[in-house]
Amino acid sequence: MPAAPAPRRDAAPSPGRRPSANPWKIDLRELGRRAGALQELDRTVPAPEGWKVELIGVPTGADVHLRLRLESVMEGVLVTGEIEAPLVGSCARCLEPIEDSITVDVQELFAYEGSTTEATSEEDEVRLVEGDFLDLEPLARDTIVLSLPLSPVCSEDCSGLCVDCGLRLDDLPEDHTHEITDPRWAGLAQRFGISATDPDASSPDTSGDDTTKEN
Ligand SMILES: [Zn+2]
Ligand SMILES: [Zn+2]
Repeated sequence: MPAAPAPRRDAAPSPGRRPSANPWKIDLRELGRRAGALQELDRTVPAPEGWKVELIGVPTGADVHLRLRLESVMEGVLVTGEIEAPLVGSCARCLEPIEDSITVDVQELFAYEGSTTEATSEEDEVRLVEGDFLDLEPLARDTIVLSLPLSPVCSEDCSGLCVDCGLRLDDLPEDHTHEITDPRWAGLAQRFGISATDPDASSPDTSGDDTTKEN
């Protein structure tokens, strides 16, 4: 005799293709438990809340694209493939808004309850098939959130903000500088014969008129 038939879930009348309330939960009845069975999964699901780190994250409700292969194995269901999600955040250097996307590879075994894998693993170490369903959300969340950059940048060579005026350096002319206005420095500047109020004083080489560099 084959293993006992899957226990009937309480009587939702002929569930058929009834859309699952939670789109992250994958119905495994189609895949079945025969080792070697395969199912391709290509679906777009809304991002839950909280997929973020301090400066960047996946907007709640945004389209998360799953391109996964489910493979029935002895111990459970092996999930491999990739997950792609849009990102919004702000640059850690200049605070400009960032829009980006992230794609992560996943490969994870969801063990059957009662399988050897479950029995020999610590409770938090293994993801489990829940009855006829497999919940992809914790896997997707963990993988994506762990891959988020802690210091995202708007571009690799972002120069950040001017420490004196707080403006974005990439938006300012290259020779952007500030006069020495702090009175504590003014005294020192005077001693070295630099006028604290003369804008030319801070750049000793003023032979080339700055205006010629402007477009
Ligand atoms: Zn930036
Ligand atoms: Zn400045």
